[in-house]
Amino acid sequence: MIFFKTEEEIEGIRISCDLVSKALAEIGKIALPGVRTIELDARADEFIRDNHAFPAFKNYRGFPNSICVSVNDMVVHGIPGDYFLKEGDIVSIDCGVKLNDFFGDSAYTFTVGEINPEISKLLTVTKESLLKGIEMAVSGNRVGDIGFAVQSYILPFGYGIVRDLVGHGVGRNLHEDPEVPNYGNRGKGNKMGDGLVIAIEPMINMGTKDVFREKDGWTIKTKDGKPSAHFEHTVVVRKGTPEILTTFSYIEKTEALVEVAQMV
Ligand code: MG
Ligand code: MG
Repeated sequence: MIFFKTEEEIEGIRISCDLVSKALAEIGKIALPGVRTIELDARADEFIRDNHAFPAFKNYRGFPNSICVSVNDMVVHGIPGDYFLKEGDIVSIDCGVKLNDFFGDSAYTFTVGEINPEISKLLTVTKESLLKGIEMAVSGNRVGDIGFAVQSYILPFGYGIVRDLVGHGVGRNLHEDPEVPNYGNRGKGNKMGDGLVIAIEPMINMGTKDVFREKDGWTIKTKDGKPSAHFEHTVVVRKGTPEILTTFSYIEKTEALVEVAQMV
C-alpha cells in the first residue's frame, strides 16, 4: 500500500530528516582512526535521544544497535562493535530517527583519514548516482526511472550495483511501499505522485554486485571482499523538481572545518 503524504505529514518527516542529517554529522566528527565502531553507535544514540527522538533502528526486527556501521567490504547493516577504525578505511553509517510519529532515514559513507584514490572515486561516483536517481523523483515518473538513472550513471565505471537491497517509502513507518531499486527500466514500476516520500539509497560495490549475509544474521558483505559505498536521502516526489528532506550540508560543513584546521 502506497501512502501519499499531506503537507502536514511532510512537515513532520522534514523535522525528523533534519535531525537524522545532524546526527550523521555528529557521528562523522568522531569517525577517526583508533575509534571503535561501538563508540559511533553510542554517540548517535545519545545525540538522537538528547534531541527528544528515538533511534529508529534500535530493536527494529531485532537489530541490536542504534545505527548500522558498515566498514570497507560491508555493504549495509553492519553491527557496531569492538572494531577499531584505521587510516584508509571507509565507514558507511545508516541512521534513522523517529520523532513525533515520523521517520527520517539517511546514510553516508565517511572516510577515515587518507584513503586510496580508487576508493575515493567509488564514493564520489556513488554520491553522484544518488543525485541522478533523485532527479527522477518527479510526479508522473515511475519508480523504474529512478533505478534506470542510477544504473545508467554507474555502468560506465564498471562498479557492481547491489540488487538484493533497495530503497523504500518513508513516513509513519521506517519502511513503506514502494520498493525503490537502484536498477530498472525506464517507464516501468509504480507511478509516482506528488507527496510520495521515498528513501533513495544506492549501494555500489567496487567489484562484483554479489553480496552475502554474515553469520550474525545482519551484516551484508561483498562476495569478493572489495569495498562498497552507500549514500541515502529521504526525498519528496514533487511536480517539476523533487524536494530532498535530508541533507549532507552539516557533514560537509564539518569536513570543511577539519580541512581548514589541517592547513593552519
Ligand atoms: Mg537508511
Ligand atoms: Mg533506507
